[in-house]
Amino acid sequence: MPETTRKGVLHADTLLAHGGSGHDPATGAVVPPVQTATTFVRDEAYNLISPAHLYSRDDNDLYRKVEALIATLEQGEDSRLFASGMAAVAAVARTVKPGGTLMVQSGIYWGTTAFLRDHCTHTGIALIETDVTDLTTFAEEIAIAKPDLVWIEVPSNPYIKVADIPAVSAPCREHGALLCVDATAATPLVLKPLTLGADLVMHSATKAINGHSDILGGVVSTRDKGSAAWAYICAERKMAGAVMGSFEAWLLLRGLRTLGLRVERMNANAIALAEHLNQHPKIDRVLFPGLETDPYHDQAVAQMTGGFGSLMSVLIAGSRADTLRVTGALKLFQRATSLGGVESLVEHRHTIEGDTSGVPENLLRLSVGIEHIDDLKADFDQALGTI
Ligand SMILES: *Cc1c(COP(=O)(O)O)cnc(C)c1O
Repeated sequence: MPETTRKGVLHADTLLAHGGSGHDPATGAVVPPVQTATTFVRDEAYNLISPAHLYSRDDNDLYRKVEALIATLEQGEDSRLFASGMAAVAAVARTVKPGGTLMVQSGIYWGTTAFLRDHCTHTGIALIETDVTDLTTFAEEIAIAKPDLVWIEVPSNPYIKVADIPAVSAPCREHGALLCVDATAATPLVLKPLTLGADLVMHSATKAINGHSDILGGVVSTRDKGSAAWAYICAERKMAGAVMGSFEAWLLLRGLRTLGLRVERMNANAIALAEHLNQHPKIDRVLFPGLETDPYHDQAVAQMTGGFGSLMSVLIAGSRADTLRVTGALKLFQRATSLGGVESLVEHRHTIEGDTSGVPENLLRLSVGIEHIDDLKADFDQALGTI
């Protein structure tokens, strides 16, 4: 869908290719410089030479460029970059005051759950973990708990569930809860939670937004720039200081230039691989909303555009040992955590999250990259042939 910008109405791919605002009007540079100065001078009358530049914890032109671009993609009013996805999660979580209540979707990115459990215990915030894809139970729980913040992940990982964002946002609004969606696994090209009723959307920029597995970053965008929560998040970024480095911000803008192409290829590869693995005798189940048989397919079709993301999980028809044998036999999929990079990755989540997590021992989470699809299929076929 075209986005309205100061250059007129342009498609997201076009904006991305030009790094948002395009060339620097003063120098004509097609690519912005890396501004490394941390501090900025004042004139003889003690006025800042540039009123928008005082100190680089907040005053960084690269942040501003990236934030403007991401806010436009999200159809939001404003964005803030953070040093990592977790710093972004923390900034949003801290909008809840001690004595308040936070509700989080169960079975999401383990780092978020682990942080929220610790943070809420430490600060005297009640934490409720709930399956937001069970809307009846969710509506009952929210009416009783009246949380300040509801945190969901769409699609969630490693179970790749797609929550119904409008249906979750309605009771949030009714009971005064702020709704934040972690849409990392979708990217803003596939899912725009702010247009579906969410108040805030967060991404780990470490993942597909940057796409090259070479920086840590996070970003939060808002539907309402004037809200108290947004003022808190902006102050948190500036004063708590979990800021991105200038070099990272420059790399992120470079990564964003190819987001359209990368997402297109990754989405196409993911659908093709999911269909291939879904009919393989050594695979019990493929968890991927792009499959028509997936329980979240209709939800995904209703909310997502241009594909279904590039994250999926597969349940191997075999034991833990079989599953680890398949993982070990993969030659192209690299055995590493993370997702959204140009290279395909495979993860045995049970090894990472442990017995108490409930993650099945035969589950492999795949992040599908931009390689040739035939090579990805062939790699899985030969690895599945070892069991
Ligand atoms: C990786 C990830 C995070 C955390 O981001 P970092 O950049 O690693 O701090 C949060 N949510 C999701 C869904 C992620 O995949």
